[in-house]
Amino acid sequence: MIVERHEFSSDNVAPICPEAWAALEEANTHYAPSYGEDRWTARACDRVREIFEIDCDVYFVFTGTVANALALAQLCKSFQSVICHRHSHIQTDECGAPEFFTGGSKLLLVGGEDGKIDTGQVEALLNRQNEPHSHKPGAISISQATEFGTVYSRDVIAEVADLARTHQLFLHMDGARFANAIASLNCAPKAITWEAGVDVLCFGGTKNGAAVGEFVIFFDKKISREFDYRAKQAGHLGSKMRFLAASWLGLLTGDAWLRNAQHANDAARRLADGLRKEAGIKNVFSVEANAVFVSMEERLASGLHARGWRFYKFIEPDVYRLMCSWATTDRAISDFVGDVSSISLNK
Ligand SMILES: *Cc1c(COP(=O)(O)O)cnc(C)c1O
Repeated sequence: MIVERHEFSSDNVAPICPEAWAALEEANTHYAPSYGEDRWTARACDRVREIFEIDCDVYFVFTGTVANALALAQLCKSFQSVICHRHSHIQTDECGAPEFFTGGSKLLLVGGEDGKIDTGQVEALLNRQNEPHSHKPGAISISQATEFGTVYSRDVIAEVADLARTHQLFLHMDGARFANAIASLNCAPKAITWEAGVDVLCFGGTKNGAAVGEFVIFFDKKISREFDYRAKQAGHLGSKMRFLAASWLGLLTGDAWLRNAQHANDAARRLADGLRKEAGIKNVFSVEANAVFVSMEERLASGLHARGWRFYKFIEPDVYRLMCSWATTDRAISDFVGDVSSISLNK
């Protein structure tokens, strides 16, 4: 029984989902080999190959930050650079982990509407910078879904991939909310990854309902060479890896990962609709995954906080993020909308 909270601060504040929990319990009834030599790890990796319809190389790590940082370190030498959106997680929220693990790769920032990189700006950057005094571009990184709860279409990903290929760059996808993007686009996972030209995907489970653990997926096995050593050196070869794998297995068996993502996306859409219709508050970005961004007066935000609602300001001066998860209830949505209306009316 989950004790409901007034929670919209993130999708990782939600509990472990029932399917992942059951799989953990099942894994906990056995002794098993350590360091990923167990059958849960093997099955989870096989299931990833099935879902992506390709014989890819799959690794478990503990956080999304290290998944991104190690993946980029695999793609780039220290004198190379990574092109990403100025509001990407690797730029704003990873404490320099990509720069640290690559041994110095510079992040080159571009803009673009709705948290998506502008390919024109990427192209301009590539045409300008490429000589020993600056640095050598090595990869482009995109987030799917983006930091602003929007989703790249298949065509735009293919366009970015084209650009990457033309300039001999790798394409990295930060998929901390990849499941939400798949649920939103309703497409095969391969359609927006390897088929479109993505080389490496960091596939997040934590925000989807797993206990802990993210995948680093290399679609081309030539690229993943010795990644096992890199992950171990960074301290990400879990000795009880079966428990990372088991919780993932709970998500990936029987499509709980997609149902969880769909639920979170639907909740966000209903929340946005409710806020617009009942309180006249419009979302700032289009709601394509599980996040709703709204601008609020300070008085309204602090009134909601005073009533126990948890969420925070994402963009200065006044844009707040409301994040839904697999566990968000109709009740939480209607209570929140009700509180917004009543505080707004109470001028
Ligand atoms: C949450 C998140 C991550 C990873 O976060 P960790 O807290 O390190 O697990 C990476 N990218 C994006 C876009 C995220 O939202």
